[in-house]
Amino acid sequence: MVKTNVLGYPRIGKDRELKRALESYWKGNSTKEELLEVAKNLRAENWKLMQQAGIDLIPSNDFSLYDQMLDMSFMLGAIPERYDSLCQDKLKLYFAMARGYQKDGQDVIAMEMTKWFDTNYHYIVPEFTHDMLFTCFDTKIVDEFMEAKSLGILTKPVLIGPVSYLLLGKEKEEHFNRLDLLPKLLPVYAELLEQLKIRGAQWIQIDEPCLVTDLDERTKNAYTEAYNYLSDKVKPNIILTSYFGSLGDNESLAISLPVQAIHVDIVRAPEQLNIVKRLPKDKILSLGLIDGRNIWKSNLETVHEQAHEAICTLGHNRVILSTSCSLLHVPYDLEVEHNEQVLPKSIKRYMAFARQKIDELTLLKTRTTGKIVDSCIKAFVANENDMRSKRQSEEIHDDAVKSRIAAIQSSDFNRKSEYAQRSIVQRRHLHLPQYPTTTIGSFPQTSEVRSWRAAYRKGHLTNEEYTRLLEEETRKCVKWQEEIGLDVLVHGEFERNDMVEYFGEQLDGFTFTQKGWVQSYGSRCVKPPIIYGDVKRPHAMTVKWTKYAQSISNKPMKGMLTGPVTILEWSFVRNDQPLEDTCKQIALAIRDEVLDLEKNGISVIQIDEPAIREGLPLRRKDWDNYLKWAVDCFRLSAAGVKNETQIHTHMCYSEFNDIIKHIARMDADVITIECSRSQMDLLDVFREFKYPNEIGPGVYDIHSARVPAVNEMVVLLHKASKLIPAERLWVNPDCGLKTRGWKETKAALLNMVQAAKEARAI
Ligand code: GLN
Ligand code: ZN
Repeated sequence: MVKTNVLGYPRIGKDRELKRALESYWKGNSTKEELLEVAKNLRAENWKLMQQAGIDLIPSNDFSLYDQMLDMSFMLGAIPERYDSLCQDKLKLYFAMARGYQKDGQDVIAMEMTKWFDTNYHYIVPEFTHDMLFTCFDTKIVDEFMEAKSLGILTKPVLIGPVSYLLLGKEKEEHFNRLDLLPKLLPVYAELLEQLKIRGAQWIQIDEPCLVTDLDERTKNAYTEAYNYLSDKVKPNIILTSYFGSLGDNESLAISLPVQAIHVDIVRAPEQLNIVKRLPKDKILSLGLIDGRNIWKSNLETVHEQAHEAICTLGHNRVILSTSCSLLHVPYDLEVEHNEQVLPKSIKRYMAFARQKIDELTLLKTRTTGKIVDSCIKAFVANENDMRSKRQSEEIHDDAVKSRIAAIQSSDFNRKSEYAQRSIVQRRHLHLPQYPTTTIGSFPQTSEVRSWRAAYRKGHLTNEEYTRLLEEETRKCVKWQEEIGLDVLVHGEFERNDMVEYFGEQLDGFTFTQKGWVQSYGSRCVKPPIIYGDVKRPHAMTVKWTKYAQSISNKPMKGMLTGPVTILEWSFVRNDQPLEDTCKQIALAIRDEVLDLEKNGISVIQIDEPAIREGLPLRRKDWDNYLKWAVDCFRLSAAGVKNETQIHTHMCYSEFNDIIKHIARMDADVITIECSRSQMDLLDVFREFKYPNEIGPGVYDIHSARVPAVNEMVVLLHKASKLIPAERLWVNPDCGLKTRGWKETKAALLNMVQAAKEARAI
């Protein structure tokens, strides 16, 4: 019979219990035992839920107190030396690696964190040195297997495979390659697998997501070496998983590895179903049919056809029905969303969260048995109705939006004149000094500001009261900027909860949830907006605040918008049309906003696109296509304005080496980037490329409360001016200031303005 398989389940808790338990423990408000108890209950809850639903391969060790890659480093004893003094207390050590440790005269920084493939989850990056040793430092995977077993549940433990583990880490010294560490690493893997086998594990899931990325020969050989080594050891059967993309040219490598089953992601790469024709006879195929990355119901008929095709070729015993990847990337349970005001029933009917996806899997399994089961037939019929309705719904499809998209002309992507001409008009119009100073948009979102928003939402403040408070905060912020002599001001973004949600809430085609939290890193969760339908802007979104701010100052006020690609990237997106189409719709909405701002006398407009780089596909060959439409969408949103209107864009984490030509094609008059931590080195690629437009390299890091000295920033500006002509340089912090306090913000900006003055005088 076919089996069902779940690659991983959310772990933060339905009500974010783990988040609260962690934060309370970190603050010293609860004990280690209390924290571990919460964690244990969350694991048990997940296992029981999947057991009751009838899932055959239930994951364990998918739980983590912080991050699964950190768990792996911990199990393998890959602990950087700087934590040596913390080794007596394992939990303290674990969190020190995740978050740094600053107490009792000790001061150790955290390990680096980075994005998990193309998700918004962040993992802790392993650190490697050539002479490091691996030992079985921790037995979490075995302990959690036994914990489930004691509840009568035989789980399938999950772990990150040795090659992906190495590839996802970083060398901390020069002249060696982390893959050299493989021979030292493998015995620890073998030991863990043996421990699991001895205790009765039948299956183990080994994740090798790097198999969907571009691999060189050396790496391919590492795969062969690793799995050959493990193949004759005492161990459970291995399901080797790939996800987030297609195995592509790594397919022959993957199916040649001596493992018992291979998992492929059919949602991201439906064409991979063809693997059934090539799969060696001794192997089982785990089909990732249920989308672990998005919140839509599956089209059960379609996924059944896919399953059926595999079963016809391979037989019932060689097919496993699975989620496409771990369900970590979707929220817990749709059923707890009761508020129609937030999530209308008419949209909810198309959606499925982790809990609902489990049911889809078991329904699919029932269907493949061919037995007539009433409830199953009913569910398939209901699903078909939902799918039909989704294709036709007027709530989703808006003809006016579709015809507007169809009518886009190539000239809509282009500014009226080239930058060289625009810049002359803008200079005349804006009267800015050399090294103009500005900020990235947000000013401190104090607990007071947040409390007003909460009170307003709860109805404790009227619209007028709330508006008055925000106006006062905005006024103070504007006046202070004027006072210290900043050149281009901002209103401070006090009315915004989040740079994407704020726009989503005002656009048609977006909806929200109350509890649709997804883990971003550690205890941090996000609640992404959901784009369900054609996007339209029913009214202006930012004009009121920008206009107000401009009305109280004679300095240019910069209008602040979030760009189409970033809005798309940080939302759950519809799966019934290409991303590019959805992005264009958002771009047109932003374009309308840009033009409204211009009409209302705003002559500098910033369109933030921090997520452009994040959206890069996992395979190089797909980059150009993505960057083509992503940059086009930005241009579409910006290009409607007159020459004298200056368009800014902002990007964080600015590694532009491979994509500089696309960044240049955005053709923003000014781009502000994060630069201070790299001592302006990031500007090198702009210089080499002869980037033609203006640049504001961040002169101080906003991620810490440290106040930079005037001279430090003068030195940085001086360095920048060696790389980019001074007349094209701006002076600004690395990013928005909303997470900072006023005290350091004021001190830092005062120094920044002074630094610009001194730079002008040189
Ligand atoms: N304008 C936004 C802010 O200042 C930009 C934030 C970002 O790029 N992450 O908060
Ligand atoms: Zn930023």
